[in-house]
Amino acid sequence: MGKLHMVDLHGQYLKIKSEIDSAIMAVVESTAFINGPEVKSLATELQTYLNVKHVIPCANGTDALQIAMMALNLQPGDEVITASFTYVATAEAIALLKISPVLVDVNPDTFNIDPASIEKAITSKTKAIVPVHMFGQCADMEKIMAIAHKHNLFVIEDTAQAIGADYTFSDGRKAKAGTIGHIGCTSFFPSKNLGCYGDGGAMFTNDDTLAAKIRKMANHGQSEMYIHDEIGVNSRLDSLQAAVLRIKLKHLDEYAAARNRAADYYDKAFANHPNIKTPVRAANSTHVFHQYTLKLIDKNRDALREHLKANNIPHNVYYPLPLHFQKAYQDARYTAGLFPVSEELCKQVISLPMHTELTNEDMDVIVNAVRKGL
Ligand SMILES: *Cc1c(COP(=O)(O)O)cnc(C)c1O
Repeated sequence: MGKLHMVDLHGQYLKIKSEIDSAIMAVVESTAFINGPEVKSLATELQTYLNVKHVIPCANGTDALQIAMMALNLQPGDEVITASFTYVATAEAIALLKISPVLVDVNPDTFNIDPASIEKAITSKTKAIVPVHMFGQCADMEKIMAIAHKHNLFVIEDTAQAIGADYTFSDGRKAKAGTIGHIGCTSFFPSKNLGCYGDGGAMFTNDDTLAAKIRKMANHGQSEMYIHDEIGVNSRLDSLQAAVLRIKLKHLDEYAAARNRAADYYDKAFANHPNIKTPVRAANSTHVFHQYTLKLIDKNRDALREHLKANNIPHNVYYPLPLHFQKAYQDARYTAGLFPVSEELCKQVISLPMHTELTNEDMDVIVNAVRKGL
């Protein structure tokens, strides 16, 4: 058994090394480093994979969220509803534009934004909802889209953790995560399920007008060469990253299957443990297991972490603090106990190694260490 990793990017690379190496060298030889044919091909291939009309690559997932809000013309003072239990980037992109992030609680089983809480948080200033598909599983999009429709709101999906997940509507129709709302935003950060070898991101939309606006905002607000109608940003995916992503996209479903095999193995190993709650699989979404996250019941997480650390077992806590307790997002509205589920989850959760190269032998070591540490 080799060294254990939270994410084994090197092991994954070795399996596709010759393809990756030649694709990278081909970009170097072409010197088409920016906006080269690789970027266009990636966009086209992702459109097909996701069954979405437009894919607009950009520099990272945080930019994708920011550009999405700029493209929707959201203004300072507008309110955007998102989850209190998420990675900071979601709220950061909102707050940077002087839009007001309005946080709401999540579902204790799926970790995803709670539709009933969204509806309660809507005011006359609300303009958009940003559901985050946490840890690889879709938020309750059918309910969220119905709320958005009723109140005339935009929906921006943060699908940085769930690319490839399938959502099933009650009529049986299926759609990929990120293609249901007005705009989907993703990240190609190396450790994400579809990760490049640096930074990268993309936006998805089925709306032609929005796609044109997104392209413009990501490119200095430029309508034609050196003609700038609006203040935009500079956010590009480079060709080297696109070349890597094109190869990894071909393996994405196989990677998701490997993650699911690992999740099933962990699930079985922890089944019926009185102090462990394994991840709940939502009925209306497949899970692509960006993270495999346990909830500890009546056990001290710090003690377990100490034990795992002493035994060199990688693990992490996503996330130790809900957004409403973060100094940068403090607000008089946000008192302790306001979002009890998020607050409780931040104390209970622990994520175990989850990647495409995990062996049963690796997981046996991890499982035994967790059991001993409780
Ligand atoms: C990773 C991540 C982002 C940000 O992506 P970057 O490419 O790192 O900017 C945004 N939202 C969520 C939920 C993420 O997990």
